[in-house]
Amino acid sequence: MEAGTSDSPVFKVVLLGEGAVGKSSILLRYIENKFNNKHLSTTQASFATRKLTVNGKTVELNIWDTAGQEKYHSLGPIYYRGSQGAMLIYDITDTRSFERIKNWVRELQEVLKGTATLLVVGNKVDLDATRQIQRETAEEYAKSVGALYAECSAKENIDIDALFETITKAMMAKA
Ligand code: GDP
Repeated sequence: MEAGTSDSPVFKVVLLGEGAVGKSSILLRYIENKFNNKHLSTTQASFATRKLTVNGKTVELNIWDTAGQEKYHSLGPIYYRGSQGAMLIYDITDTRSFERIKNWVRELQEVLKGTATLLVVGNKVDLDATRQIQRETAEEYAKSVGALYAECSAKENIDIDALFETITKAMMAKA
């Protein structure tokens, strides 16, 4: 944690996950309360900042999105080093995207050695009818690696604010 420009503590949070799981959409929904049906990740800004108040304390989040780079080359530790929090995002209708986050979790644990709060996020709950990963399965996995778990929909604006509150509370508790 470091001091921000206005003396609020600053937390770095990275968004990780396979292409098209909704990383950019979650960020756009959280920052601007907008949603776009198109795949945005190569054109959207890859960094955003927002203040929020949790338990009466204001903090600033610096949120990093991969902007589609995960498709072209591996991101490497330069992207997530120094983060206090990481969201491992998958699409609940896509088993492959769920399997993919397990690699990220292993890598983060190796490099960050437990210093960061990990939040596993199942996105696109509006598509529950075509769900492939059961909530209990994902929750159990998250628990087994010491991560928190949440589900959301960027499209329908379900529990997007809650994601950031959850990770922030946990980061504050660790700081
Ligand atoms: P990224 O590559 O992980 O940043 O994914 P994007 O944010 O670009 O989203 C990929 C696609 O999934 C786009 O067509 C989005 O409109 C769509 N999408 C993102 N979030 C949701 C969601 O919550 N529900 C549904 N149904 N589609 C979503």
